[in-house]
Amino acid sequence: MHACTVRALLATTMLGFAAAPLAAQLAPPTQARVTAPKDVVGGTPGADYFLANYTKSEAWLKKVAGESDRIKLVNIGKTAEGRDQWMAVVSSPDNIRNLDRYRGIAQKLALAKGLTDDQARALAAEGKAVVWIDAGLHATEVTNAQSHLQVVHEMLTANDPETLRLLNDVVMLFVWANPDGLELVANWYMRDPKKVTTESIPVLYQKYIGHDDNRDSFASTQAETTNLNRAGYREWFPQILYNQHQTGPEGAVVYIPPFRDPYNFNNEPLVINQTDVVGQMMHARLVAKGMGGSVMRSGAPYSTWFNGGVRTVGYFHNQIGILTEIIGNPTPMQVPLVLKNQLPREDEVLPIKPGEWHFQQSLDYLREMDRAILDYASRYRETVLYNRYIMGRNQIAKGSEDSWVITPKRLDAAKEQAKASAGAQAATDEGGPTVVGREDRPVPAELYKTVLNDPAMRAPRAYIIPADAQADMPTTIKFLNALIKTGVEVERAPAAFSFGGKQYAAGSFVVRADQAFRPHVLDMFEPQDHPQDFAYPGGPPIRPYDITGYTLALQMNVAFDRQLDGAPEHFPLVADVMDAPPAGKVIGTGKAGWLVSHAANNSFTLSNRLLKAKAPVFWLKQATTADGKPLAPGALWIPASAKAARIVADSVGPLGLDAYALDARPSGDTMAVKSARIGLVDVYGGSMASGWTRWIFEQFEYPYTRVYPQELDRGGLNRKYDVLIFQSDVLGREGGRDRGQPEAASLPVANRSMLGRITREKTFPQVASFAKAGGTVIAIGNAAAMGPALGVPVTNVLTTKNAEGKEQAIPSSKFYVPGSIVTAKVDPADPLAFGVPETVNLFYYNSPVFSGTGDTAAARKVSWFYNDDPLVSGWAWGQKLLNGNAGIVDASLGRGKVLLLGPEVTQRGQPYPTFKLLFNGIHYGAATRSNAD
Ligand SMILES: [Zn+2]
Repeated sequence: MHACTVRALLATTMLGFAAAPLAAQLAPPTQARVTAPKDVVGGTPGADYFLANYTKSEAWLKKVAGESDRIKLVNIGKTAEGRDQWMAVVSSPDNIRNLDRYRGIAQKLALAKGLTDDQARALAAEGKAVVWIDAGLHATEVTNAQSHLQVVHEMLTANDPETLRLLNDVVMLFVWANPDGLELVANWYMRDPKKVTTESIPVLYQKYIGHDDNRDSFASTQAETTNLNRAGYREWFPQILYNQHQTGPEGAVVYIPPFRDPYNFNNEPLVINQTDVVGQMMHARLVAKGMGGSVMRSGAPYSTWFNGGVRTVGYFHNQIGILTEIIGNPTPMQVPLVLKNQLPREDEVLPIKPGEWHFQQSLDYLREMDRAILDYASRYRETVLYNRYIMGRNQIAKGSEDSWVITPKRLDAAKEQAKASAGAQAATDEGGPTVVGREDRPVPAELYKTVLNDPAMRAPRAYIIPADAQADMPTTIKFLNALIKTGVEVERAPAAFSFGGKQYAAGSFVVRADQAFRPHVLDMFEPQDHPQDFAYPGGPPIRPYDITGYTLALQMNVAFDRQLDGAPEHFPLVADVMDAPPAGKVIGTGKAGWLVSHAANNSFTLSNRLLKAKAPVFWLKQATTADGKPLAPGALWIPASAKAARIVADSVGPLGLDAYALDARPSGDTMAVKSARIGLVDVYGGSMASGWTRWIFEQFEYPYTRVYPQELDRGGLNRKYDVLIFQSDVLGREGGRDRGQPEAASLPVANRSMLGRITREKTFPQVASFAKAGGTVIAIGNAAAMGPALGVPVTNVLTTKNAEGKEQAIPSSKFYVPGSIVTAKVDPADPLAFGVPETVNLFYYNSPVFSGTGDTAAARKVSWFYNDDPLVSGWAWGQKLLNGNAGIVDASLGRGKVLLLGPEVTQRGQPYPTFKLLFNGIHYGAATRSNAD
């Protein structure tokens, strides 16, 4: 848009507003009756022993939307279980009438595209602050969704000066973050509120991923995440996001930012300051009202490093993000006396008295915290709007010129350089890696230019994703869709082009750095470099709030070229999430059958369709070629038949697979791929890793059955299953506190068979018998620790024996990899690794790693660490210990198999290339069994 048009437009609108007397804007609204929640939801939100469910909350919202001119209901999409997910837009009647205008201003300022500072100032002067408050994301954290009903009702009915001012200055977005979970937990509790606890639900409160619904924000795999991201980063562009959680630290009431270090170095600095300021305003409001027990920083482990939460993804979009964690339950509770929280300190200036605590007290806090944010947005409305523009403008500028992201590794490099130039005279006190909080002496200033701003280490101006270099194009499309879902601009070249001395095919993608959401772009393509963060030098590592390395492009094995000197010309933007990969096709006219590469995960979908129709599928054991293209071992051979022809013809297009039609079966050995009856192990309350696996299975059309401990303990498992899958979190935490389970008699009959635990004494012998009789056991992540106990002759090198001979984990001061991407080798000729790159990125989280493997069938290593510093992205301490040991082991046990997949090969539905290790394992065991029969 030309500058003059903007100005003309602004002039008219501003005139229009100026003509309306201020009194009219602030006048109390019509006196129409607005129904109170209690008249619809079956009780009073905030009362002891009552929770309103989603169905009734929704009914109330619809009713008041017809009664009040301060609210507009917006359906932001369907949930996993098919409910409508509502956002209540609340503001003054005038603002509600002009929502499109204010939404447009928020968008223009957030994207900061083509605006001058003057235009941005004028837009900020005219605009309204947009504040997002979401509740109930974690549905057992029950206070927040109940508070929403009270707060919205008050905003629709109160006429005090503060409420009218807030309504006038702010467009409030009240979001129900997890409708399915609210329905589940409220109905569960209300069966018998005096006896049932809100925590004791039998299944996850989001259909597939439960608590991980706050870990999915950059990958956007789930329906609710997609809805929240669309509303937040593509439609409404709130400047402040408030994401409500539970529970508060013991002996306190609520955690509110400021956060502790580290924050993510890709973030715009202003986002951190503003988040701290808003947090302090919230504390101050509570303290002014005499409401004690709010803590910050050292009071809890929360940081802003990880980019996967509803709150944290916002930082990478230049959005102020507030998290609170509050106590409270409809069943009255006690605030315990915790002495350290009775001594006032910077991080808790007003301690709370111990004693009985009722639900409404928590809702009173939530009301004040909501209002503190809205008050800040109202009083600093123009600043909040203009700063959003400043941040976007700064990021666009950084993406258009040479710029650097300084990380700990760069400091270490400078230190090494300083040491080298100073000779024996060490430049710093202690040498070694840069550690947070350790003292540092000045080093020669030229190192700033030569090392910290080393030209070779510039942040890219653009990433080019070549259309003809992707190992798995449909997976690359999923990666790009994840970017698009959070508002990142992706361009596609309609024709071939050359840039930076390289030729790129038509259909190649470009992600430019000169966009407002550049922090998110960098964070999705570049390794995270987490600081060495220890309690004290030589002490234990400080546990990060969540995982430390997660670069999505690296997890998904996307091929891309960094452009440091500039970006190609602009190509057309990809307008929306791409439905399907570029169409695949049948190549050639041969009549014997079809050959399909194993490298694309969608080849498993094709296999499953064929197996379902009982059309045979084989894997070629050796590498081959098709149409001159090399295919790694494991390529699918599909013999011709009418059934197969129909399935291949219908599938290759939408699945983005190329099928080579051949005149003869390729030479060499093959393995018959068999369908397998899958038992996916789950536990009472729901395993998240198992839930993610359900989601993955449904994407790739694997049928499965959920198996609970009682069934495992009964044995006879071969009658029903060919494969049993134990995910990372089903064994419970060794030595850790187990989540309690309710009494069977207190449960609905249907839930009783879910109770029980997997035990070494009762469960493992049945699982071993299952394998020995020909079954396949697949143990992933921490569950791989069961390998030695089942009889696999390997040793977990990350454990030692204590004085009593009991096995225990190596201390974290010696080895600590809290969720990072590491590199390893695989044997591409092993059927378990068919289709996996020979050097592969693995997601790894302190899980078992094995020695004692050999080339024998008893325990063959399929993937192993091959160097002293396998870290690719994140944080690793003591990683040398991994070198030479196996992460993935293929073991025979009796007539069956035990496959140990130590790394988290399905981590939160993200590392697509390593899904193949699970998929191959499912078919591989079955194939081996049939050969033996
Ligand atoms: Zn939570």
